[in-house]
Amino acid sequence: MGYALAEEAAARGARVILVSGPTGLKDPAGVEILRVRSAREMDDVCRGFFDETDIVIGAAAVADYRPLEISEQKIKKNDDELTIRLARNPDILAGMGQLKKHQFLVGFAAETNDVMINAQNKMMKKNLDLLVANDLTQEGAGFGVDTNIVSLLLRDGSVQHLPQMPKTEVAKTILDTIVGLLQGSTLLN
Ligand code: C5P
Repeated sequence: MGYALAEEAAARGARVILVSGPTGLKDPAGVEILRVRSAREMDDVCRGFFDETDIVIGAAAVADYRPLEISEQKIKKNDDELTIRLARNPDILAGMGQLKKHQFLVGFAAETNDVMINAQNKMMKKNLDLLVANDLTQEGAGFGVDTNIVSLLLRDGSVQHLPQMPKTEVAKTILDTIVGLLQGSTLLN
């Protein structure tokens, strides 16, 4: 979804910086790509650009935890169970929600249950302006497929349910919605 959004925004004339984790997708046309390998790297890069950014779209499925210790050598097996301790990663979007001044923030919520309630809570907790929710249990939605089935939640509580569409079309609808909400704002100049 992130790559589709980046390409569509660039095609509409935006300066786009795509901060991407590892993926097999081909580079979208017309965007500046910054590659990262961890949530903390993504957080650093995003914070570095935040002041000069007008619209942030957080489409990455960021790992919430990372291994607490990294072994330099291969970990040898033995007959016991192995426990790996995990440390909490920063919530990148929530951090930007706290720093927000003029920026318009868009988040995603991939849910498996109570989609609308969880999505609404996420929007408020992370101080977002628009939230794109999808139900991972639906076929043709979410990760690893070229289509998505999403609902757009706005700050005023209104919801727009979209049918299954190619991710390129979902990207257009998301950007149309952002442009609609920003009509009259200097962010579009
Ligand atoms: O809380 P949850 O992971 O469901 O929220 C999803 C939204 O938050 C997505 O927009 C995702 O890109 C963002 N996120 C983040 N940093 C994290 C986890 C999620 O920015 N560590």
